[in-house]
Amino acid sequence: MTIFKKIIDGEIPADIVYEDEQCLAFRDVSPQAPTHVLVIPKKEIVSIEQLAEEDAPLLGHLWLVIRNVARELGVAEDGYRVVVNCGRDGGQEVGHLHFHLLAGRKLEWPPG
Ligand code: 5GP
Repeated sequence: MTIFKKIIDGEIPADIVYEDEQCLAFRDVSPQAPTHVLVIPKKEIVSIEQLAEEDAPLLGHLWLVIRNVARELGVAEDGYRVVVNCGRDGGQEVGHLHFHLLAGRKLEWPPG
């Protein structure tokens, strides 16, 4: 079981900014920007690589939640970045699909 599943189940506390029946958004414990929120599906999907065709509506929902959370947190106007790490070279450390929402400073490009 991943740490994110424990957060979904309420076994580990998190600073939750949004929740519905399909997903959860909470602040990253080690923020890389003034605003750093993780948006995750409640369904246990390891990474983009494990997505199924049936997950397409869920993904669409997640993108709209990300957009709405950015607006709610007041970062939409200045802009933000959404990052999904996948696998070893992608830098994924937690094996539960998650979208990083980063904002609050001018982000550099290209990423490291
Ligand atoms: P990844 O490297 O897998 O794309 O990102 C995992 C993220 O989860 C990291 O940014 C890390 O700081 C965050 N993280 C790891 N454990 C916890 C935790 O227990 N609580 C919260 N809120 N974030 C966590």
